[in-house]
Amino acid sequence: MTKNEIRVLAIEDNQDDADLISALLSKEKEPPFLLFHARRLAEALAYLARHYVHVVLLDLGLPDSLGISAVQDIKKIAPHVPIIVLTGLNDEETAKKALQAEVQDYLHKGEIDRNLLVRSIRYAIERKRTIEALRMSEARFRQLSESGILGIAYYDADGRITDANESFLSMVGYERRDVETGAVRWGQLTPPAWIERTRQADEEFRASGRITPYEKEFFRRDGKTFWGLFGCARVDGLAQAISFIVDITARKKLEEEITHLAHHDVLTGLPNRRLLRDFFRVELLKARREQTKLALLFMDLDRFKEINDTLGHEAGDEMLKAVAGRLKSCARESDIVARIGGDEFNILLSDVARPDDITGFAQKVIASMGEPFQIAGREIDITTSIGISMFPDDSVEVEELFRFADIALYNAKEGGRNTFRFYDHGLNQGSVEKLEFESWLRRALAHGELTLHYQPQVNVKTRGIKSAEALVRWNHPTLGRLDSKRFIPIAESIGYIAAIDEWVLRTAGAQFKTWLDAGFAPPCVTVNISSRIFRNTAFADAIAASLDNDGLTTDCLELEIKEDLAMGDLERNITLLKNLAAKGIGISIDDFGAGYSSLHNLKRLPVTKLKLDQSIVKDIATDPDSRTLISAMIAMAHKMNMLVVAKGVETEEQLSFLREAECDEAQGYLFSGPVPPEQFSELMVVAK
Ligand code: C2E
Ligand code: MG
Repeated sequence: MTKNEIRVLAIEDNQDDADLISALLSKEKEPPFLLFHARRLAEALAYLARHYVHVVLLDLGLPDSLGISAVQDIKKIAPHVPIIVLTGLNDEETAKKALQAEVQDYLHKGEIDRNLLVRSIRYAIERKRTIEALRMSEARFRQLSESGILGIAYYDADGRITDANESFLSMVGYERRDVETGAVRWGQLTPPAWIERTRQADEEFRASGRITPYEKEFFRRDGKTFWGLFGCARVDGLAQAISFIVDITARKKLEEEITHLAHHDVLTGLPNRRLLRDFFRVELLKARREQTKLALLFMDLDRFKEINDTLGHEAGDEMLKAVAGRLKSCARESDIVARIGGDEFNILLSDVARPDDITGFAQKVIASMGEPFQIAGREIDITTSIGISMFPDDSVEVEELFRFADIALYNAKEGGRNTFRFYDHGLNQGSVEKLEFESWLRRALAHGELTLHYQPQVNVKTRGIKSAEALVRWNHPTLGRLDSKRFIPIAESIGYIAAIDEWVLRTAGAQFKTWLDAGFAPPCVTVNISSRIFRNTAFADAIAASLDNDGLTTDCLELEIKEDLAMGDLERNITLLKNLAAKGIGISIDDFGAGYSSLHNLKRLPVTKLKLDQSIVKDIATDPDSRTLISAMIAMAHKMNMLVVAKGVETEEQLSFLREAECDEAQGYLFSGPVPPEQFSELMVVAK
């Protein structure tokens, strides 16, 4: 069998005619024809059921069949084979019927010659092939269209929807009838907030004939909205456009939930610390502009810990919820009540006219807390203390206002509890102590009082050490060894943090070299960098210097920055971080999920790792919300090509949940607390 021969089945009861066809085709060589002959339809069908042919030549007057019905019989068995009808009759009516039955050609026996027959066969095969290809692509499109995933609609230049598939109709809640009568227009599906964006998209369409897919909201007929990914392209040759919508409502909802969880306290639903700070910045700008006052109230419950310890955590939680409710009812719509953690609440009062107003408010809060609470079937009395700082009277800086409110709270507690205090510059014992502490701290580096401890970050599956996180300690001349959290915030507020972080970077680099020389170094050293340091351009030079001197190469250095980094001068931070990342330095976002965490902004930073905040990890065992949040964050992070480290892992139970949630690394007392370098060496030896 020649490769490109054309296989022809002639169904012809008249032997003379069959011989004629054979004679006409036998002369053809390029490519040659291979002819099969059947005298009856039944014989032909049996042949077709088992053999492949390129074309069928069909006589309509057969002994076992008459007329066009033969065409249908053949198509049932060999639907893809083109059919050419040969007939002795030259009658228009039959010709028409044959073409309606989708035969490829209709030839009169009396008129055929070699050329006509050969050309007809070739065209028939070619035409049939084209039609089949079209059908196939149509079938594929139809499958996609009917899959229920993609809403497809056509619309005309007036924005009127002229045709749509079932998915589209069910997304927007209209009937096919509505489309057929021309009653549905894009305008009706566009919520007011999206008109401007839609106008931009239309402009793009006019300029380029397409709309780059984007996410927007749509109106359904019943007035509800849904989120869709929408794109569109002009249909060539028609004054029409084809558009698609993918319903992404579920994903949007999950994203919103994550954002909400990250900005709110799960227990009370109140804004958390970071969201409060956001509000604060906005209110501060407004107050500056409008020359009004702000008051920040720090509040905590006196002896809350006792309630928690004696009645249990559940009663404690119930109590906190009740307190949150009362605080909200004391506050105006424009005030912000936030839960900062434990039994600490902050309240931001805006548009304050006189200090008397604040006094009134503080008294109202104390009185409202004075009413007994009904918790766990008991009546419980609590009292509360409040510290207050004011803008612009006490300070014009957010951080300082927070610090002053804290000091005022301390004074209120010292002053006998169940009371409130305004921050007082002069008479403040606490601030005198603070000043002294600050001046000690400024000398700590020069006096060689800082040291580094290291804490392992381990692979969740193997528990192998992935990195050593450097944590600074201060050997205070009178107070003894202090953990970072005692002095780092103060170092930040007095602008001393850059000096500390540079020292840490250098010291950790030198330590890494020592480990290398000893033959067992961790794969990576992690250094915390204060997000404030990004205001200091000398910082990049400090990193470069430590890399040159200390045997630390970029691929084994990782910087940890708190998530509020994404809040400062974002554009500038992006540039700085990109320069570091380009050198191969890992960038990790610390305390992710503690508060302000815009996944959106993070997307623009070259972040390689997210460190989940201790507070969420802590709740794994008790709080299903926190488990959901963690799983969602891990999935998101992996989608964005980031690794995830869980902090503060203290129990096997937490670890096994994290393993299931596909968390990459973990850190916490379960493995080891921060330890001096010699002890860290031992950890590495044991791990070996
Ligand atoms: P961080 O980066 O979150 O460091 C982890 C803190 O959690 C450490 O406290 C560590 O002792 C503690 N920790 C570790 N494992 C566990 C655990 O399983 N459970 C609990 N409850 N706690 C655990 P530390 O050393 O007091 O550090 C406090 C913060 O101070 C650090 O938080 C870091 O943000 C900052 N810090 C430490 N060293 C430096 C530094 O050199 N430069 C800068 N800018 N910040 C630093
Ligand atoms: Mg850290």
